[in-house]
Amino acid sequence: MSILDSIQKTFQPQVPKTSSIVVVGTVAFDSIETPFGKSDRIIGGAATYISLAASYFNKNINLISVVGGDFPKEQILLMNARGVKTEGLQIIEDEKSFFWKGSYHLDMNTRDTLITDLNVLAGFDPKVPESYQDCDYLMLGNLTPTIQTTVINRLRHRPKLIVLDTMNFWMEHTPKELAVALEMIDVLTINDAEARELSGEYSLVKAAKKILERGPRYLIIKKGEHGALLFHENNVFFAPALPLEEVFDPTGAGDAFAGGFIGYLAQTDDISYENMKRAIIYGSTMASFCVEKFGTERLVSITEDDIEERVQDFVDLVQFDISLVE
Ligand code: AMP
Repeated sequence: MSILDSIQKTFQPQVPKTSSIVVVGTVAFDSIETPFGKSDRIIGGAATYISLAASYFNKNINLISVVGGDFPKEQILLMNARGVKTEGLQIIEDEKSFFWKGSYHLDMNTRDTLITDLNVLAGFDPKVPESYQDCDYLMLGNLTPTIQTTVINRLRHRPKLIVLDTMNFWMEHTPKELAVALEMIDVLTINDAEARELSGEYSLVKAAKKILERGPRYLIIKKGEHGALLFHENNVFFAPALPLEEVFDPTGAGDAFAGGFIGYLAQTDDISYENMKRAIIYGSTMASFCVEKFGTERLVSITEDDIEERVQDFVDLVQFDISLVE
């Protein structure tokens, strides 16, 4: 070997390893009614929105979920094309996919769940493929808390960060299982009404204190068009939501938020509190795109430039100069 060869061998540039994300959650059909229109049986599900949003930041996303034989195969291929691996997506041919129907009130911030058909989710036993082991980030999207904890237990090593999203349905149907899950995670994301329900406190500050005592070190409370709050120890950070001219369908906004949040953390591979503040802005950005069209339509049609432009809009929205009298 020449001296040059040996120098090149010694000083090969270190290509940084891309962090991997495992996403767990529903992949579903949704029927949605808003004051502006209706859409029947479109593709939805928490894990769908999370994976699509995260795919703009990271190309090592590994999905764990279950669908029935009625789920269109081309949707799975579309996810694959966006860098989402689906080895952990089980297809139960003779069963039906999870189905959810919701109706939004005029304020578009509140909704009624009209139907939740668990279908294939009822007997779901999540498998963690060998290629998903050693993942760096785990995003537990909204689904049965027992499935969320089963996935944590089936990973050989604890990921750097475990984020869990849940909703009132699980707080009411499986409170004990949810309590176990809370003890195992780092970040909990819920909306304001759910934070109040989970803690029994009206004040979100008091609610956050109580929830942080139950396990997670970080709590994100999403407030729809009123932004999001990040609580950690005695610190609070607030990110606004972008005032948008048109909001068509808020479905999946919370999941798109979670996808942008975890995607950005994985891309930067930095889980400090300061970086989480930036991640919340990226999460809010993805949520702002999500609501502009029905279902996942907008989320699959944006570019990286669109994202950066919108992040700039967020920066401009909250930037001001003020001189405080000493
Ligand atoms: P979000 O608007 O962010 O709360 O998420 C809406 C998505 O969550 C829809 O696409 C539904 O398919 C899914 N979803 C609704 N209810 C549940 C539930 N109980 N468990 C899991 N996913 C659900």
